[in-house]
Amino acid sequence: MKTGSEYLESIKSLHPRIFLGGRQVGLLEDPTTLTVVRANARVYDLARDPRYEETMSCTLPGGRRVSRCLYPPRSPRDLEKRAEMAVLTSQMLGTCNYRCVGQDALTALAGTTWEMDRDLGTDYHRRLINHLTWLQDNDLAVSGALTDPKGDRGKRPGQQEDPDVYVHIKEKSADGIVVRGAKVSQSGAIGAHETLVIPTMGMRPGEEGFAVAFAVPNGAPGLTYIAQYTPFTAERQLAPDTKYLGNPLYGQRETCIMVFDDVFIPYDHVFMCGETQYTGRLVGRFAKTHRMNCGGACKTGFADLVIGAAAQMAEYTGIQKVPHIIEKITDMIRISETCHACTVAAALKGREEPAGAGYYLPDDVFGNVAKLTVADGFWDIMKWAGDIGGGMAVTMPSELELENPETGEYVRKFMKAAAPAELRLRMAKFLQNWCAGLHGAGTWHGAGSPQAQKMVLYALTDLDAKKKLARDLAGIVD
Ligand SMILES: Cc1cc2nc3c(=O)[nH]c(=O)nc-3n(C[C@H](O)[C@H](O)[C@H](O)COP(=O)(O)OP(=O)(O)OC[C@H]3O[C@@H](n4cnc5c(N)ncnc54)[C@H](O)[C@@H]3O)c2cc1C
Repeated sequence: MKTGSEYLESIKSLHPRIFLGGRQVGLLEDPTTLTVVRANARVYDLARDPRYEETMSCTLPGGRRVSRCLYPPRSPRDLEKRAEMAVLTSQMLGTCNYRCVGQDALTALAGTTWEMDRDLGTDYHRRLINHLTWLQDNDLAVSGALTDPKGDRGKRPGQQEDPDVYVHIKEKSADGIVVRGAKVSQSGAIGAHETLVIPTMGMRPGEEGFAVAFAVPNGAPGLTYIAQYTPFTAERQLAPDTKYLGNPLYGQRETCIMVFDDVFIPYDHVFMCGETQYTGRLVGRFAKTHRMNCGGACKTGFADLVIGAAAQMAEYTGIQKVPHIIEKITDMIRISETCHACTVAAALKGREEPAGAGYYLPDDVFGNVAKLTVADGFWDIMKWAGDIGGGMAVTMPSELELENPETGEYVRKFMKAAAPAELRLRMAKFLQNWCAGLHGAGTWHGAGSPQAQKMVLYALTDLDAKKKLARDLAGIVD
């Protein structure tokens, strides 16, 4: 497996066409794109760290160790370790493990291509496994792309005014396909060696052109990355030193729009090409695993950081023993651990799917409940953190004032509490990153907007069985 430095070396040969804030930037030159690169490098280093290797890597049947980011789970224990990896990387980065979506897309594709080959006599699974072996051999970073721009949400892909709002096959030739369209909100795609692309939803007969899955290398001709731009991007561009930023090294969860302007994909890298009847299963399998990992486990790691920051601020302010503060911190822990417990339950109740394929997926009910719990719960956790941190988390001056001879003494004097101003300002800025930042909406929509999970949860629940239980005990004879 690669070290962080080897990853850094390996991406020097990539030349993604990235636009950020209205101009083209170099992956290794812009302060925001560098946060993605740094986060990836840290994930590589974590896998080589003896303290974390059990979580971050796994052993193949031949005895070779590979990154867990490139390993479709083969048992409930693997699923549990996968979820643990999400907790750990969130704790260590305070942003995405940008290889997370790619790993979950790989898991969904592993079972679905196996099923297609069995049912249809296609060659997709062999291609995928060949490709996976190459990814593992070279320990490459893979991001995952599902979310199409989708245009008018009330219309099907084929009914859209512009068909490009869903990635689709424009042409087929003897060697491969040409794809067109875009994927939005793509976490860390700019710093990945390649992206695994799958449909955003189940397709119907007549929508064959949209039923496409493939791997595309970073910087492929016709591929453009348009990066997200937020106040945090501007702040990082202006900051004289990253130490003044809330998450100095790894920053925000950075995404981009990936534009596919007639990108050629050779057949070796195509894993679905028109089989609409398998798209729903593919997306459903992705959702099962991603809701446990990104929806539940990852946010437990983030919550650990927010809870830690709130408890630290309480000490700095001198309120750590006050009953209502203890109660609020306890409530934050309750929410986070409920979500954590749901992810562990989803993993341990995981099942082989499809039967006989050898690949495992988490339990759907517990995975969806994990994501739903955190979607609401994360706002609550941030609410209590904002309460405990005080108004300072949003009204604080810049830490640079401490170095200003005209204001430094004032800020030291008036921002001091039970701890010096320096510590309070630094931790308040960390809290600002969460409570007044992008993570609320990010947690809500990442791994799918909550309405999707509610629909699944309702559909999965056997209400007739529950009604019968109630009737039986109430003495109502059928
Ligand atoms: C921080 C972050 C990171 C992400 N990373 C990735 C990534 O790496 N890869 C990736 O593929 N995606 C990624 N996503 C995208 C994520 O999966 C989507 O944001 C999510 O699926 C919602 O889609 P949308 O943003 O298009 O929302 P919209 O579709 O615009 O949803 C807005 C609202 O409309 C509702 N709605 C939409 N369509 C319908 C409908 N047909 N019927 C009823 N209600 C509807 C939704 O429930 C929601 O309430 C990321 C998102 C975030 C926020």
